[in-house]
Amino acid sequence: MDERVIALFEKLNDEEKKLFEAQFSAVKKDTTSFVLLALCLGGIGMHHFYLGKITRGVFYLLFCWTFIPALLGIIEVFHASSDVADYNYARAAEICSRFQTKTRSTTEEKTCPKCAETIKAAAILCKHCGHSFSEA
Ligand SMILES: [Zn+2]
Repeated sequence: MDERVIALFEKLNDEEKKLFEAQFSAVKKDTTSFVLLALCLGGIGMHHFYLGKITRGVFYLLFCWTFIPALLGIIEVFHASSDVADYNYARAAEICSRFQTKTRSTTEEKTCPKCAETIKAAAILCKHCGHSFSEA
């Protein structure tokens, strides 16, 4: 795994790590597939479609008859690992940002002075002991 992805991963809690692994393995791309696509089908831009670069892939497709895209495909093999790593890092950052917004909304909590249970900050009545915050 890319070290930038590992850095993001380390910040997550155990539950998020499990979710992250499942979601990330579903969206991440691998360098080997990219290289094979660039070499075999690079002339029609398949390696760009693979990384979601649709516009670029369409251009390759349109100009495939010139054989220039095929040449570019071979050149792009040399950047394959960094291109794929950038793509994977962007997906990883996306997944992590989803976790952060989720945690933020659930961390707004307070402790009930009567029963010491953790309840939502906006609560006016404790769900555990029935303590009313509006009385205080
Ligand atoms: Zn309470």
